Amino acid sequence: MNKYILKFPSDVVSSPVLAETILETGTVLNILRAKVDYNEGTIVISVLGDEEKQKKVVEILTRKGVEVSKLRKGIINEEERCVNCGACISVCPAGAISFDKEGSIKIEKEKCHRCGICLEVCPRRSLSIQEY
Ligand code: SF4
Ligand code: SF4
Repeated sequence: MNKYILKFPSDVVSSPVLAETILETGTVLNILRAKVDYNEGTIVISVLGDEEKQKKVVEILTRKGVEVSKLRKGIINEEERCVNCGACISVCPAGAISFDKEGSIKIEKEKCHRCGICLEVCPRRSLSIQEY
């Protein structure tokens, strides 16, 4: 499984590009995060399947005018700001954040689907999403 960030320009944003890609490839896509309006859209997806299917999905989306980038990073915690209050742990829907043995925050990037909920509750603003 890989995760991608898709940027839809204004001339593509109202087209059913994702649905067409699913039908053409038979691939399962999960939408993890979406911000779409009439002018543009940014959507984070995960794509199941082998490398061949991944390539096909990227190729079709790109052909349809979508800018596709593979997500490589995830949530970053600035440890010097974090007070290990645990607020981010309690809201994470993916169970991606926990305390380590020393009582410090530990983030498992492979579990995180970049919903951004933890950023909103952090009282110290120590979390951020690094997408590239
Ligand atoms: S909510 Fe912020 S300050 Fe609290 S543990 Fe999480 S990252 Fe640290
Ligand atoms: S972005 Fe979402 S899934 Fe990732 S660690 Fe934060 S709350 Fe959990």
